[in-house]
Amino acid sequence: MSSGNSLKAFLGSPTQVVITTHHKPDADALGSSLAMQAYLEKLGHSCQVITPSDYPSFLHWMPGHERVIDFTHPKKQEEALRLIRSADVIFCLDFSRTDRLYDMEPHLIESKARKVLIDHHLDKQDFADFEVYDVKAAATCELIFRIMQRENDLDLLDTEIGSCLYAGIMTDTGSFRHSNTTVEVHLIAAELIKRGVNTTRVHRLIYDNNTEERMHFLGHILRDKLKVLPGYATAYITVSSGELHRYHSQTGDTEGFVNYALSIQGVRMAVVMIDRGDMIKMSFRSVDGVNVNRFAREHFQGGGHQNAAGGKSIQTLEQTEQRLLSLLPGFSELLVR
Ligand code: 5GP
Ligand code: MN
Repeated sequence: MSSGNSLKAFLGSPTQVVITTHHKPDADALGSSLAMQAYLEKLGHSCQVITPSDYPSFLHWMPGHERVIDFTHPKKQEEALRLIRSADVIFCLDFSRTDRLYDMEPHLIESKARKVLIDHHLDKQDFADFEVYDVKAAATCELIFRIMQRENDLDLLDTEIGSCLYAGIMTDTGSFRHSNTTVEVHLIAAELIKRGVNTTRVHRLIYDNNTEERMHFLGHILRDKLKVLPGYATAYITVSSGELHRYHSQTGDTEGFVNYALSIQGVRMAVVMIDRGDMIKMSFRSVDGVNVNRFAREHFQGGGHQNAAGGKSIQTLEQTEQRLLSLLPGFSELLVR
């Protein structure tokens, strides 16, 4: 394993690269993947981005989206497997544990390709041959910028790469408001603006892209499904598969629900539980010292960052809700002020 060395030296002569990221990619996952693809192609490598699932339509504007292979697409899986088998190098971006690849996981593990990990999530597994890993980085897109800078390749950073990187940094910092928004984050954003990124456009494409139906869905959730527990400084939301169906919910439609719960006065932890059919997918957000990474890891097979994590449950939605409620009295960080 090497870290801090030259990625270009590690890659060597032009090579066959597959770039992948976590299940249900967000803007940082997809933005870092597409930016890395564009950069590596400028260096002469052959690249293909393969995602373990689909991703929200509000990311379809990203340059390179049209070439992405979704592993779950029945007509594309053969091609994806062929590319994974023949790759010399596989880049793993914006995840640090292989279970985040879902059905793609065994294929990554079986592959003889050299692995590159570029990530900022806690609790990394050791599976990569080359790592750029920094849990203090606000976004994987920040790490891609730093790599290009370290390689003296910022002249290759064009507006298209810049827009992808800006999108990842903007979303993972909650539009530059979370505690991960460092001086360096702002300096990188400034560099991206200098290279032509239209920040207003990127923000609108991602956040002002709601369907009318999604707004009605959100209205229902906030009015009828939001539960606040002042004694535990916690707010949570459950979403049934019937509700997903009734509002014709598309991938990405439930993103951001958790932030409304966290925005309530006095709330220090917010949880959203969504019945996805095969499992209950959970999202956790917190403030200050409330460590939802640990909570998600210890109780819900998940993890992420201290103040933003995900997890899952194979119980029913009602049982998962009851389990959460039963755990709150023991989660002392919620009660300490
Ligand atoms: P979100 O709630 O937006 O899906 O995820 C919040 C953060 O936790 C993101 O950084 C995401 O990558 C990470 N995350 C989401 N689900 C999981 C999971 O099941 N396991 C781990 N280790 N991280 C997750
Ligand atoms: Mn990220």
